Amino acid sequence: MFEEIYSPVQKIALHPFNNLFVKRDDLIDPYISGNKWRKLKYILAKAKAGHKTHLVTFGGAYSNHLVATAAAASRSGIKSTAFVRGEEVKNEMLLLCSLFGMRLIFTDRESYRNKHSLFEQHFANDDRAYFVDEGGASHEATLGCAEVIAELTETYDHIFCAAGTGTTAAGLLKGIRQQGLNTKLHVIPVLKGGSFIKDEIAKYTPLSDQLKLHQDYHFGGYAKTTPELIGFIKNFTAQTGLLSDPVYTAKMFYAIVDLQTQGVIDKDEKVLAIHTGGLMGLFGMKDKF
Ligand SMILES: *Cc1c(COP(=O)(O)O)cnc(C)c1O
Repeated sequence: MFEEIYSPVQKIALHPFNNLFVKRDDLIDPYISGNKWRKLKYILAKAKAGHKTHLVTFGGAYSNHLVATAAAASRSGIKSTAFVRGEEVKNEMLLLCSLFGMRLIFTDRESYRNKHSLFEQHFANDDRAYFVDEGGASHEATLGCAEVIAELTETYDHIFCAAGTGTTAAGLLKGIRQQGLNTKLHVIPVLKGGSFIKDEIAKYTPLSDQLKLHQDYHFGGYAKTTPELIGFIKNFTAQTGLLSDPVYTAKMFYAIVDLQTQGVIDKDEKVLAIHTGGLMGLFGMKDKF
């Protein structure tokens, strides 16, 4: 299922910028979207190599990672189970998970904290079960994300990505180093207090001054929005034809426009935004629009 992918780089017309490009990882797949596809690629390969036929993972009720894992598992002919944080709920995302055959185990927030002990409690006797951390965070995930950079046929002055755990950013930084590029990697944490992202990245790859962390674009924190961000999404989508979601990619696009407007990034420099997908998250926030 991971043989061929479609993720073109497209130039986007957003006045007054004339060197803005987007790597359309959101087009890879509607359900195994964007960076979740990148992250699962080598996780699945490792699971298969170890004769594991059951992915066990973790996430919140609106997790893109859960939908991606459920879809990837079913297409690979293996089982999936998710520990879902919080009390039992129904929503669009969990509906998709169920349709893809994922078993959902709703878990109170206290127990959810210790993922390894949950795995042990439920799956100690299942030698086909494979632990996949929340969001797919792992060394394997960074290998898949590094390939985004290897696919590029042109060079850019700046590459931007949104960060939740920082695993994707770590993979991109790895890729930039592997390709010997001078490109700066700008990372936009979508959570408040995103300085931990640097430590996360450092778990996978050495830090460098090519890495720029911008901590002021969280809009109140994870899954928080403001009327300003919602207004930005409406304008940006109408002007460019590109969808972004309020949890991740809209915060990144907002940062790009803001940093260029401030002159931190020159408008003649080439900028590549990684569209990490996650558009179904929009529907969970329809009341904000
Ligand atoms: C999960 C996700 C991210 C965050 O990726 P990390 O590797 O956890 O930093 C970014 N964008 C989208 C659309 C996502 O679904």
